[in-house]
Amino acid sequence: MADAPLAGGCQCGAVRFRAGSLGRASICHCRMCQKAFGGFFGTLVTAHDLEWTRGTPRHFQSSNKVRRGFCGDCGTPLSYDFGGPVEIAIGAFDDPARAAPTIQVNLADRIAFFEELCTLPVRAAESEPEAEAFKAAIVSYQHPDHDTAEWPPRQR
Ligand SMILES: [Zn+2]
Ligand SMILES: [Zn+2]
Repeated sequence: MADAPLAGGCQCGAVRFRAGSLGRASICHCRMCQKAFGGFFGTLVTAHDLEWTRGTPRHFQSSNKVRRGFCGDCGTPLSYDFGGPVEIAIGAFDDPARAAPTIQVNLADRIAFFEELCTLPVRAAESEPEAEAFKAAIVSYQHPDHDTAEWPPRQR
């Protein structure tokens, strides 16, 4: 899929983007990224020749130097804009594996248990049948991981 477009968007599909090429991919441990992503760290990659191909993000000015873009409909974090090339949230890409992080930044705010995350025990699927049944009954309303001519589909 190396020649597939570097596209992505928010969970609901109201905002979609496409990049010409990608620069440095990082994970950022700063407290603002933790908050803005609702996670343990932020994941961002520089997106060169960025185009918003459907809708545009809303912005929150998180500091005097940076505004953060997100979908105004579903809230998905999308961008980090400091006045230079815009950075895009890696998980928002249709194929996040194309932006493997190469560096960690802002270690001072790193959450204490970060290094243990990959050693957590893993739940075996068969160990919790109720959770598996719940999962099997889910009908996703999330935008698929490719561009669409129209969204949401009419039949919903
Ligand atoms: Zn959305
Ligand atoms: Zn950060």
